Amino acid sequence: MIRKKTCLVCGRKLWLREFYVTASGYILPRCKECERERSRVYRECKKNGQRPPHRRVSVWDGDKIVCLRKWFATTTNDELADILGVSTASLSRKAKALGLSKDPDWLSKLRADSRRMAVYVKRKKLKTRKVNYGSDKL
Ligand SMILES: [Zn+2]
Repeated sequence: MIRKKTCLVCGRKLWLREFYVTASGYILPRCKECERERSRVYRECKKNGQRPPHRRVSVWDGDKIVCLRKWFATTTNDELADILGVSTASLSRKAKALGLSKDPDWLSKLRADSRRMAVYVKRKKLKTRKVNYGSDKL
């Protein structure tokens, strides 16, 4: 039985009593504090005749955030986005919101790898071009 849940808005791991539960037994993804803040903003907008902030259904649940926190530093965004089933844009936005960053050592290693790859590809291309030259002359 899970007693704690991560709030989707503030990212804090809180006891379940800090979350509102709907009549059907569904636990809201935001903690009570964030939910109150959200409805306050909503009411304020209604009162001033403004449009309330867009309600976006987030693809991020607690498990995904835990994975993101664990793997973001040493996994490429493409790979992680694929694993979590989210877009890379969503992934980097969320990582930024959570204040996550890449591991510097891992990043420099990755850069070295891609440099080697770039050199390799360049050589390959040169070789192919040479071959083409030869066949042109024939
Ligand atoms: Zn919260």
